[in-house]
Amino acid sequence: MPAGRLPSDICDRDPIWDREVETETHVQAFGRAASAWEKQFRHLIDHSPFYARKFREAGVHQKLVPLKNIANLPFSTKYELKDGIDEAPPFGSNLCVPPEQVKRVYQTSGTTGAPSVLALTLSDMEMWTVIGTRTYFATGIHDHSSVLTTFGAGPFVAGHTHFVLSRIGCRSVPVAPGDTDRVIFGLKAGLADTLLSTPSFAQYLANKSEMSDRQRMALSHIVTGGEPGGGIPAIRDHIQRVLDVTVTEVMGIGDIAPSLFGECPQQQGMHFCGGGHVWVELVDPDSREPVTIEAGAVGELVYTHLTREAMPVARFLGGDIVRIEGSPCACGRATFRMRVIGRRDDMFIVRGVNVYPSAILAVVGRFRPRVTGRARVIRKTADVSVQPPVPIEVEVPDGHAGDQKLAEEIEAAVHSTLTFRAKVGLITEAAFGESGYKTRLTVNRP
Ligand SMILES: [Zn+2]
Repeated sequence: MPAGRLPSDICDRDPIWDREVETETHVQAFGRAASAWEKQFRHLIDHSPFYARKFREAGVHQKLVPLKNIANLPFSTKYELKDGIDEAPPFGSNLCVPPEQVKRVYQTSGTTGAPSVLALTLSDMEMWTVIGTRTYFATGIHDHSSVLTTFGAGPFVAGHTHFVLSRIGCRSVPVAPGDTDRVIFGLKAGLADTLLSTPSFAQYLANKSEMSDRQRMALSHIVTGGEPGGGIPAIRDHIQRVLDVTVTEVMGIGDIAPSLFGECPQQQGMHFCGGGHVWVELVDPDSREPVTIEAGAVGELVYTHLTREAMPVARFLGGDIVRIEGSPCACGRATFRMRVIGRRDDMFIVRGVNVYPSAILAVVGRFRPRVTGRARVIRKTADVSVQPPVPIEVEVPDGHAGDQKLAEEIEAAVHSTLTFRAKVGLITEAAFGESGYKTRLTVNRP
């Protein structure tokens, strides 16, 4: 198998969509970004009341803050941007174009408050499509692929994937998120060799397929996104083994670009695919001091648009804590690769140790098939500090909720791996609730 190509892929096309950008050196990438940033910075100062005020309040009065000094600018958060929307609805004080140039509007899910909006000009839509095309092409999707996508058409930014699949030129088979019957029909009918879904749903499909006729499916590739999991070995290995597929993952962030990182078939973490349009920094999660992007570095990703027209953001704190896996890659891309460790919002502290719920999934996954692979942490208070034992609910197949020995084994595994005491409750699939499509890793329940 040539590097950067799926095992099932025998085509001879270049597996890199945008070879110039995706293989350039860091110095070249910086130069490309720095000149784009000059224009973007002026656009912000001239047209964004939100950023003009924010920079003024931070004591930034220069006509230009060059990219190499970007750390002199203040961070932006989703809460500030939401306030900006509220003070000048519907598009807010960070709208940098006349409203009639807004040609597409997505909404955010509002999991952290009231829904918000994301406005795009035609140029913004194209920019998202360009980045997304690099991202999905990197996973191994080519024009000869047939892709069943469960990412929905809207109202969320994941709907932008449809433009991306059209740009690649593959067959697209859209299904609504969580419509299990249509997914299974589509796969068994041989309509698709590739599935785009959440890792929760892929896991659900794997659990269902363990007893059914996997061999009738043409499925060979699953691209997971929308939540962490595709990069967790216990989850990925299970899906790959049961469904006999290659799992790659993608990640994006609504305020920046819906598909911004894509993992190639080398499966060594997700490549940054936003070159020329988005600038990424890494900062220490606690001090917020800059951290060099190099193999082994851990930090929070900070994003700055370089070419956004309607709602550009500068130094946006994305909330994703990642580990840099390094660069370059056997696939030929020079862009850095990373894996998500967890969401800052989901993190809690037990006796001074930071814990991300995705780490709990990695432990729970070892107990398959006695568990389904889904689990969540119950937070009784809003305090980031949690007293042990930490309540964890683990989903088990129907009829296994009374297996006290299993609960104790998971508690012991959590203790030995993550060094904190847990109180595990076993919950059947019916009682766990939420469709198998997406799993909230943390539930607040006093
Ligand atoms: Zn690669």
